[in-house]
Amino acid sequence: MNPSYAAGNSKGAAVQNNPDTTLITPDAPVAATTHGGRAKCLQRLVRLDLPVPRTVALSFDAVHQIAEGQLPDIDAILGEFNPTSLLCVRPSSEDPDWGGPGAVLNIGMNDARYVDLCDTLGPTAAAALYLRFVQTYAVHVARLDPDVFDDVVEEGPQGLSEMLHAYETETDEVFPQEPGEQLGAVLRTMARAWEGTSARLLRQAKGAPADAGLGLVVQEMIPGLGLGESGSGVLQLANSTTGLPQITGRYLSQSQGRDALGAGAPSLYLGCDPRGPSLEEKAPGAFDDLKTHAALMREKLREEMQVEFVIENGSVHILDGVRVQRSSRAAVRIAVRLAQDGIIPEQEAVMRVDPHTLNELLHRQVDPEAERDVLTTGIAASPGAATGKIVFTSAEAQASAARSEPCILIRRETSPEDIRGMHAAVAVLTEKGGITSHAAVIGRGMGLPCIVGASGLRFQTKKKALMAPDGRIFKTGDVLTIDGTSGQVLVGEPAMLEAALDDSFQTLMGWADKERDIGIRANADTPADAQTARNFDAQGIGLCRTEHMFFEPGRLTVMREMIFAETSSGRAAALERLLPMQRDDFTQLFRIMQGKPVCIRLFDPPLHEFLPATRTGQRELAEALDLQVSDVTRRVEAMSEYNPMLGLRGVRLGVTVPEIYDMQARAIFEATLEASKHGAAVVPEVMIPLVSAKREVELVKARIDTVAAAVASEMGTDFDYRLGVMMETPRACLRADEISPNTAFLSFGTNDLTQMTYGLSRDDAGRFMSAYVQQGVFTEDPFHVLDTEGVGELLKLGAERGRAAQPNVTLSICGEHGGNPESIAFCRDAGFDYVSCSPFRVPVARLAAAQLAIAHKLGGDP
Ligand code: PEP
Ligand code: MG
Repeated sequence: MNPSYAAGNSKGAAVQNNPDTTLITPDAPVAATTHGGRAKCLQRLVRLDLPVPRTVALSFDAVHQIAEGQLPDIDAILGEFNPTSLLCVRPSSEDPDWGGPGAVLNIGMNDARYVDLCDTLGPTAAAALYLRFVQTYAVHVARLDPDVFDDVVEEGPQGLSEMLHAYETETDEVFPQEPGEQLGAVLRTMARAWEGTSARLLRQAKGAPADAGLGLVVQEMIPGLGLGESGSGVLQLANSTTGLPQITGRYLSQSQGRDALGAGAPSLYLGCDPRGPSLEEKAPGAFDDLKTHAALMREKLREEMQVEFVIENGSVHILDGVRVQRSSRAAVRIAVRLAQDGIIPEQEAVMRVDPHTLNELLHRQVDPEAERDVLTTGIAASPGAATGKIVFTSAEAQASAARSEPCILIRRETSPEDIRGMHAAVAVLTEKGGITSHAAVIGRGMGLPCIVGASGLRFQTKKKALMAPDGRIFKTGDVLTIDGTSGQVLVGEPAMLEAALDDSFQTLMGWADKERDIGIRANADTPADAQTARNFDAQGIGLCRTEHMFFEPGRLTVMREMIFAETSSGRAAALERLLPMQRDDFTQLFRIMQGKPVCIRLFDPPLHEFLPATRTGQRELAEALDLQVSDVTRRVEAMSEYNPMLGLRGVRLGVTVPEIYDMQARAIFEATLEASKHGAAVVPEVMIPLVSAKREVELVKARIDTVAAAVASEMGTDFDYRLGVMMETPRACLRADEISPNTAFLSFGTNDLTQMTYGLSRDDAGRFMSAYVQQGVFTEDPFHVLDTEGVGELLKLGAERGRAAQPNVTLSICGEHGGNPESIAFCRDAGFDYVSCSPFRVPVARLAAAQLAIAHKLGGDP
């Protein structure tokens, strides 16, 4: 061990015996939970025999007492250090991310020491050290206004005497000369700063508990100023943005603390760099030592660390190590590289990446460094960011796409009629809606950035204008950016980061899948969705909402003809034309999924959703059907319902207009035989939506079995299929015991189930949800995070009763909650077989599920 760092000498005894002030030695009783993360990290560095200056750690209790006015034995602390050393005090909160008061350097500087240091370091360096201390002390400890020193323009000895003079004039006292008095005052200030209201709120916002403690470390200063090559800097071995191995950081000769990182500082690069001079060229020996120390820290601390160092006359000292700050993509690469280098096991790499942050990798994002001109914040409904010219109708969006001009579709709310516009747009912004409203669900399915419920803006869709709270007006063609990850609507075009599905991501996902013990499927409605699901390694399709297929150009009119048909033969003719279209859709889905299960939900929404809502749309339909506009309008009015979400939809259509389900079943079975010809045998899953009574299932099942038998006999080939029920009404959950014997699977549709359990409209709740969450009525938006207490209770009841009556029934969830890590934990605990979520959330779900399985194996929480 380097003798200057030997900590276990007799002096240590006084401090060691005091549980509140502990000299950091390899075996001193120091823990992150009692002394903070920095103190613990320093002890680890001491154990590695690294050149760490002597340090005394003050416990959370000691610092709390200091804040209350009871100082520890300051003489005992000072007794730990060489009387000629300067000291610094730095914060040590339990989790370094919780922050703490700024460090105070050069404690112990006084007139006498200044004179001594003028001899050893030279007057310029000595004055700089003293000046820095007086300034910090004056502002933070004596709480003087920084303006007091406005007139001090000189540096060096002259500046110092001006500053001391200004201090004396302002306080009517000479600058404190006693190191003990200085140290006591600094400790008191830092301890009280931590107890202050704003500091408390700030750290609570970062997840700290209300009673989080602060430790402090008192460390011997290595000045970084003076003779020979002296200075300070920081170094890390990985790039914070990409996670790739790269020595990054800066070094500044004749500097202290983090001066090297200051804007405009004439700092050096670390390794040789074409952009300018480097530490490697200036002090190659020190550079080599630093690299070796950093590599040792990485290996032994099992983490990518940023090293804070000082060079004193050519030799390196390590002051501190902090976890490298990292973007989400860097977090993945760093975890994978640590595992590949044998430093941590693969399982631990999987545990180290927060699944929520994967969203940032899967989509383009606004560069975190970019400046943001935030117009308003709405509900972040579908992650990712995109910039485009704003348009107010789907037709404009399509025209814009035809000109290859990226556009943002702005609507009060979207309806199925807007699907084509959404396909043409790069992002969507709506005034109304919540996390499960139309725009949100479709946006997530398509990977299209989307903000809903942006009620802070005035949507003047007729005038084609958006008015911001600050009075700015945006019209068609103006450029905005939608940040669907944060919910911010931004003016202009900030810098973006591209999606990063790189090799590290794939490796991490592979490791996650080895651990996972619950299936992950995707909700996919179109071949494009299915392809995305495959690309993200979904284990099947858990929900294909077939109605979305009817919005393709050319189909809507046929669909409308079917709806308008007055007679059963008229309806049959329209369905006859829809059949081959649906058959093609399903054949494609089966082919893309290559034998993996595909669960197709029969038609669900109220029919009138397919009818044109606007005057122009109604005129077009009248033209197509050779009717009067008034006929169309009357029919649309006749079909409208007071409460369509609770009206004639789902299985109720299947019971009252059974031909639609007959056609869909036939299309599914014909596609099954078609796709099975050239690939793995397909076993389709057919799902009945919105069931609330056993008899509904019996009626539909009887007809579907008949269609299956007819198709098998016409084609001369038998096939298997599985029939299941979508559990999305409270009654279905309560009566699951009588429903499940008729089914192969029960899939919980938690969007509608949440809506019906709360009696809360999924399309309108966004208007007041934030007020409800702010006032603590709901802890979270229940459409976003599964309400395990209420809706969850129904899920558990349904699962238990369903399984009791039919032990082999497959259980799953296919509402938007399926991709949410917290909801996956609930479903896993309840013994579900799989969860199904938007294709772009499949990786998030795979990682979250793996973490649950690993935590379970290790016997703790993730
Ligand atoms: C549900 O209700 O949870 C569901 C998945 O169906 P949809 O969102 O299509 O109503
Ligand atoms: Mg539903």
